[in-house]
Amino acid sequence: MKITIRDLSLKGKRVLVRVDYNVPLELDKTTNSYVITDQTRILETLETLKYLIDQKAKIVLISHLGRPKGKKNPKESLAPIAPLLNRLLGVPVKFVGDCIGPEVDKAKEQLAEGEILLLENTRFHPEEEKNDPEFSKALASLIDVYVNDAFGSAHRAHSSTEGVSHFVKEKAIGFLMEKELKYLGQELEAPRRPFVVILGGAKVSDKIEVINRLLEKADSLLIGGAMAYTFLLALGHKVGNSLVEPDKISVATEALAKANERNIKFLLPIDHLVTTSIDFEQKIAKSLEWTTGIDIPEGRLGVDIGLQTMQSYGQEIKGAKTILWNGPMGVFEIPGCEKGTFSIAKSISENPSAISIVAGGDSIKALHQSGLSNKVSFISTGGGATLDFLKGKVLPGIASIPDR
Ligand code: AMP
Repeated sequence: MKITIRDLSLKGKRVLVRVDYNVPLELDKTTNSYVITDQTRILETLETLKYLIDQKAKIVLISHLGRPKGKKNPKESLAPIAPLLNRLLGVPVKFVGDCIGPEVDKAKEQLAEGEILLLENTRFHPEEEKNDPEFSKALASLIDVYVNDAFGSAHRAHSSTEGVSHFVKEKAIGFLMEKELKYLGQELEAPRRPFVVILGGAKVSDKIEVINRLLEKADSLLIGGAMAYTFLLALGHKVGNSLVEPDKISVATEALAKANERNIKFLLPIDHLVTTSIDFEQKIAKSLEWTTGIDIPEGRLGVDIGLQTMQSYGQEIKGAKTILWNGPMGVFEIPGCEKGTFSIAKSISENPSAISIVAGGDSIKALHQSGLSNKVSFISTGGGATLDFLKGKVLPGIASIPDR
């Protein structure tokens, strides 16, 4: 168990919080200023920030935004976030156009209890991604406590996520990070059984480490997305023109053997939605048809799990006590190919007593689109960080905070 902000006395202390404000910005032509088009990541930090305000801490916020490659760029400035935080929290929020240096230090010194100072994008300095010790030390200047609440960036050993922790005495995680560790860590470490995992997406290569790790914990794995066809090919089925990774057939075969040895259900689609051709740019799949069997006819490619598969996956999900879902069951962004993915969201929502965790941009999008977001126990905020965590990797941003 990591030290959390609840474990420390924070009154009057300067607390540096690493948040994940990597939000999308768009230029508003009427005002010629950048506006935030999705506030989710900001709203998610409010619980931590409110607590710090209540504790009378002096709050300094740092984050990266986009990939400015070490150069200042107004398109990737955190400036528009300051007025929004002020509106949301009702406390003064000051912004300084850098994250280190004399002007920043002066603003840190002038900060009063319960006030917030938002600093500029850490990636405007090339030293951030190099985890440069001098830069990390400058971030830590005048800081008493370092709080990491940026789970989505915790898989990277950068100055603001890792290096800075070496120059601050007291360290803790925030509430957002605590929730991620509770669900992805504690709940999945000793899951209530049956533990059912639904995995989809394009490639076996992206998910094989996650599959191998989950084969040590799960009771059932339900596979969808293009990834399924490489497994079906490994079992000798016909997959037509479906997207496959021929060089991953051997790892797929090994995973199937491991599941068999461990007596874990490894379910693959037993029928499909197929098309004659697909145009990702125009978002069109031609001549969509449901198959009635496992094999995909010559000249067709699979774009979603079939109706019987949806039913059988649904049965598994309904009997689960712990559910983890990552990745779409098909090309759900193309109209007509989304039913399988949405059926997973629906089946999870119909099992409210299970602990359910949804991770990955596409699965979360499908969940939001089906209006079922409030029916799951937890939505993980990390992309790459969540996958690395599920693979069992040590995340540098988490390792930087000591245990209790
Ligand atoms: P991932 O990023 O690995 O979770 O993969 C998500 C992508 O996989 C989405 O853009 C889907 O369109 C794509 N995908 C899912 N199923 C298929 C399929 N049957 N054929 C091609 N692409 C697919």
